[in-house]
Amino acid sequence: RSGHVAIVGRPNVGKSTLLNRMVGQKLSITSDRPQTTRHRIAGIVTRPDAQLVFIDSPGYQTRSGGALNRVLNRTAVQVAEDADVVVLVCDARGWTPADERIAKLLPADRPVLLAINKVDAVPEKARLIELVNKATACRAFDEVVPISAKTGRQVPLLLDLCAARL
Ligand code: GDP
Ligand code: MG
Repeated sequence: RSGHVAIVGRPNVGKSTLLNRMVGQKLSITSDRPQTTRHRIAGIVTRPDAQLVFIDSPGYQTRSGGALNRVLNRTAVQVAEDADVVVLVCDARGWTPADERIAKLLPADRPVLLAINKVDAVPEKARLIELVNKATACRAFDEVVPISAKTGRQVPLLLDLCAARL
């Protein structure tokens, strides 16, 4: 199996840290599908059962002043539309209106996994449950996985769940 996985979420939730953690080292293998102008290949994971091509949006790199939030939301949606599986990353310390906006904009016709990152910073289980309740009230997720991109906790599980949805 082979496919594209989009990593989306508001700034600072840990998308880059997660990508680095999942991809580990740079590989010279290229995807058999062309990059669109709306996404770039951020890394590739090759396993015996699957090849996962992680994509993000070039738009994320640019600052565009006043309409920044709108631009970020639009690029998140576009990169999600170019993907086979979408991982929405949020911060375990709290579900915000920005998370909610992005979650609601994501395409309904493909798998969306919620990665609750930075669980190392939230020892209280009740707070995590509260976050899951808020997040799942605003849309359905195919999987909800608490992770720590920083420590690597449950990142292999997230990779398995992505591979299983390709
Ligand atoms: P991005 O803007 O979504 O790409 O977020 P970054 O990957 O740049 O991370 C933003 C900040 O969150 C950085 O200071 C990271 O070190 C921190 N961070 C990322 N993942 C974790 C995590 O699992 N736990 C904790 N405590 N901090 C994290
Ligand atoms: Mg980043």
